[in-house]
Formats: sequence, C-alpha cells, structure tokens
Amino acid sequence: MIIVLRPEATPDTAQEILERIGALGLKPLHMPGTERVVLGALGDERVLEQLHLESHPMVESVQRILAPWKLVSREMHPHDTVVDVGGVAVGGAPFVVIAGPCAVESREQVVETARAVASSGAAILRGGAFKPRTSPYAFQGLGIEGLRLLREAADAAGLPCVTEVLDVADVEVVDRYADALQCGARNMQNFRLLKELGQSRKPVILKRGMSARVDDLLLAAEYVLAEGNSRVILCERGIRTFETATRNTLDLNAVPLIRRRTHLPILVDPSHGTGLRELVAPMSKAAAACGADGLLIEVHRDPQEARSDGRQSLSPAQFASLMRELEPVASACGRPLSPAVRVAR
Ligand code: PEP
Ligand code: MN
Repeated sequence: MIIVLRPEATPDTAQEILERIGALGLKPLHMPGTERVVLGALGDERVLEQLHLESHPMVESVQRILAPWKLVSREMHPHDTVVDVGGVAVGGAPFVVIAGPCAVESREQVVETARAVASSGAAILRGGAFKPRTSPYAFQGLGIEGLRLLREAADAAGLPCVTEVLDVADVEVVDRYADALQCGARNMQNFRLLKELGQSRKPVILKRGMSARVDDLLLAAEYVLAEGNSRVILCERGIRTFETATRNTLDLNAVPLIRRRTHLPILVDPSHGTGLRELVAPMSKAAAACGADGLLIEVHRDPQEARSDGRQSLSPAQFASLMRELEPVASACGRPLSPAVRVAR
C-alpha cells in the first residue's frame, strides 16, 4: 500500500502513521520526496485494511499495489533505479558492458583478459571463482584463490568486478573481494541465499532461473529488497525451451516487459542465452535495441583452451569488434557506451 501525505503534513504525522503501520505487524516504509512524503505499508492485505488511512486528514491518497511484488514494482518507485557497482552506474543513461572469463583459471588468464576487455570499453570485469557446473567432475572454479586473482585483475585493469556466490556460507568472503555479488540462474529461487544477499550492502546481479517466469524473477528480487538491499540488477540469460539448436532461448520479450513492471535495471547475457559465440554480437545489439541497461559477456584470452563455456566465449579481438558494432546501436537508442561515466562516491 502506498500512502501519499498532503504537502502540509508534518514529520510528526508521518511518524505517527509509520508507528500505526508497525504496530499492526506490517512493514512501514518512509519515502520522502521533493514535493510529497510517501509512506508504504507491506504485509497482509487484510491487516492493511484495518488502517483506514483514507479518512486521515493529512493523507492525500492511498493506493494498493496490485502486483504480488511490492518493493520492486514500478508503482512503488516510478523512476529507474541506478545501481552503483564500484563507481559504475548501472541503470542510468550509459549502456554498461560487463565482460570477462566464465571462470578465473589462472593469474595470467584473468589479468590478460581483464586488461583486454577494459581497453575495448568494458566497464566491469566478470569472472567465476565458485562455478555451478552441471557435472560434479567438471572444473568447479578456484574458490577463494579465484576471488583473490579476480580482485587483482580488476585492480590491474582499473575496473570493478562481479562474481557469483553459490552458497550462503560464502557470502561474506565473496563480499570482501567483489564489488557486486552474482546470484546465478540455478540459485534464483534459493530463498535462504536471497535473504542473505538482502543483508549485504553490495549490489546483487540476479540472473533469471532457466525455468523461471518473469514473475518468479521479480518475486526473487523482492526477497532481496525486503531484507533491506535495494541494489539489485536483474539479468535475462535465456530459458529452457523445446529448442535445442541453441543452449537456451534468449527471451528478449522479457526486457521491455521487465522495464514496465519494475524500476530495477535489467542486463542481458547473450553468452549463456545462446551458448554460441557467433550469436553473441547480434543478440548484444538486439539487447541494446530492446531497452536493456547493459550486457554480461564471456571473454577468454584463448576460448579453445577455456576450462568452461569456451564455445560461447569471445576472444579479445572478437569482443573488441562487438564493442565497435554495438556502439552505434546503443547510441541510436539514447544509451551511449561509456566506461568513463562513473557515479560520484
Ligand atoms: C555465469 O554467469 O557464470 C553463470 C554460471 O551463468 P548462469 O547462472 O546464468 O548459468
Ligand atoms: Mn559461463
């Protein structure tokens, strides 16, 4: 429920209403704006009715949020949220490209790849240290050593970095090394992990589950926001369909749909979305054209030698060429590619 106060309402009135909301066991929200103070009440709809705020003399309007997600909804927050990832603004005008290897494999591999993607215009480095692999016999990532190497590579290249956290027990250590925490497709409905990420002060990149509906993704994001972390960036990475010609079916419909439903930024991952490196550049341009806020792209200094996802990884030269092709498309959509635009900290 959104409660808009009259312009003449005093801070004491806002406080009194917030206390009434809290006393009913609901979650009170205080959202002061430039012209009006807006309050929120989250919780059981039947309890919300008992507030009878419509008749309060200092209340201008009361609006129910019809969607099942509340904090992530556009109704609650009409303006786009901009998330600061280590000084890079995601969700503002610039189109942000996050690039790097699927997995951190060695110091040389990650440092070389980080420098290459930075010089081509990537704004954030990616790289997995804890890898969620389908087979238990496949390379599982370097773990904490991988986090150290990723941080070292990011610093060497002058970029912030993001990496996946697979388990509640690892949130603290990943938080220490990375500028943003990625919750992967396989963990999108790991509600314990989502709650733990909600306790972190770092931004969270939440990937859509491979069999998740858009609504499921938004409700997963709601878990993180409900715990107090509003710095969530969504990511469309393809879903499982009957089509087996590509690794996944990259659902670009989801991008404009998500932009209508939520204020949170949305990225597209055309690497996992297609599984085929030759489709990464065309789908990157399509993502920019349909309103994505940025991309997550796998780049390896030698894709043939990659220990994971080599088939969908670009070489540094292919990534440089993608960036050149992407630039005019993103600019034409009003989203200049700009690694240089940094938010003040
Ligand atoms: C990844 O980005 O490294 C990854 C494992 O992706 P997803 O969770 O989308 O499969
Ligand atoms: Mn991968």
